Amino acid sequence: MEELQSLPGVGRKTANVVMLEAFHNPQGIAVDTHAKRISNKVGLSNKAEPEKIEQDLLKQIPKEFYYDVNHLLVWHGRNICIARNPKCDNCPINKYCDSYKK
Ligand code: SF4
Repeated sequence: MEELQSLPGVGRKTANVVMLEAFHNPQGIAVDTHAKRISNKVGLSNKAEPEKIEQDLLKQIPKEFYYDVNHLLVWHGRNICIARNPKCDNCPINKYCDSYKK
């Protein structure tokens, strides 16, 4: 992670994606727009900054799930928890979601 982030233009999110997809050795959770939105809505983090959201996620999600969680956040955000029109009534995690409960 440190070596990747020392490269020009590579931040923590990109480094996380490279470690996940290129090296199959996830070191964290890449917080993109989907991960940020879902984390805030579900209640996994109330932070706005991606790096703080990631730290909240890492406290709650065991490392053995990093690989799956990285992908689940993206696919859930693209297909169910869509920014402008989330499909809450068909969402498989709506009973855990703070936003849905409100
Ligand atoms: S219930 Fe709605 S807001 Fe909550 S995670 Fe599912 S789609 Fe997103």
